Amino acid sequence: MNSQLELQQVSIKYGEFTAVDAVTLTLEKGQIGCLLGPSGCGKTTLLRAIAGFEPITAGSIALRGTVISTPRRQLPPEQRKVGMVFQDFALFPHLDVRRNVGFGLSQLPPGKRRQRVEEMLDLVALAPYAGAFPHELSGGQQQRVALARALAPNPEILLLDEPFSSLDSELRTQLATEVRDLLKQNGVTAILVTHDQNEAFAMADQVSLLNHGRVAQSDTPYNLYHNPGNEFVAEFIGDGNMITVTVNAAGEMSDGLGVLDQGHPRWRAGEPMRLLVRPDDVIHDDSSDLQLRVVGKAFRGAHNLYDLLLPDGQHVPCLTPSHVDVALGSHLPVRFHLQHVVVFSANQG
Ligand code: ATP
Repeated sequence: MNSQLELQQVSIKYGEFTAVDAVTLTLEKGQIGCLLGPSGCGKTTLLRAIAGFEPITAGSIALRGTVISTPRRQLPPEQRKVGMVFQDFALFPHLDVRRNVGFGLSQLPPGKRRQRVEEMLDLVALAPYAGAFPHELSGGQQQRVALARALAPNPEILLLDEPFSSLDSELRTQLATEVRDLLKQNGVTAILVTHDQNEAFAMADQVSLLNHGRVAQSDTPYNLYHNPGNEFVAEFIGDGNMITVTVNAAGEMSDGLGVLDQGHPRWRAGEPMRLLVRPDDVIHDDSSDLQLRVVGKAFRGAHNLYDLLLPDGQHVPCLTPSHVDVALGSHLPVRFHLQHVVVFSANQG
């Protein structure tokens, strides 16, 4: 047991309702994990359990090999070496930046405390703002203060609860990358909670996608995207659509959608299959005979994201350069690019 964080079969119940259901996951030192999932899937509850604010009803949580939570015994939050950054940053408005950062260092002698605060301010590049109050700072700066405060006591793990959600969307991804670099340079082990896949991908080494309190898949961002283990993961990650198709013995799909690679392990002639179609699997091609009706269109600057209707009423997305500009209701010639397409058998659920 030398993982930095180890959750074994952790469940959390409120009466009859199971908010977290037998979650097992580990993080090694210096790894950044992420709990990702739709609203109500149990992310925050699990993070609070790691912090010690939430009792668990089954399983165990260990930090650096020491068990800190079981149903019988919970180490109080202040005795866990856990740092936390909250959604709203929770800075003390009446304390300046220096005092906010030094807040958790009361055990240190004053000289050491001052030194640690200076180190932390340098780390997050806020030394010139040491005397400023939170309301005098931008959202991004406030967040860096919250980060410095959480890291100052040198926690064994840093917990970040939707840390970017109060910032505007442009700043979010930029900050996610900055925070990741900072944590990586300092070897900090961290867990991030978010419902934003871009944030999860920008920050985490390992993303655990939760669904109704269970881990649907815990994997690298690359594998979650390219090798989703089930349809929930496939539909949650990316802008893909699941469609049902049937192929003949030659691998040709119904509706003239193209030929599926016969080497695919889940390929069965004559049996309906579920295909995950991503926007870049459907390619605009003026020479194609397959013309699909445009029923939705979103302008994304460099690209247009189209929602296209198949003859049988199913929808597929299609990403084109934005100069491929076709009106709603008209037809777009496309071909399917099926080399990397994800296939599930229709009875897999
Ligand atoms: P969000 O992204 O909306 O914050 P979440 O994934 O963080 O969602 P949680 O806050 O962990 O979800 O909640 C998981 C489930 O547990 C929800 O259905 C919620 O209503 C329920 N829940 C959370 N806290 C309690 C509580 N103290 N008592 C009863 N039910 C609770």
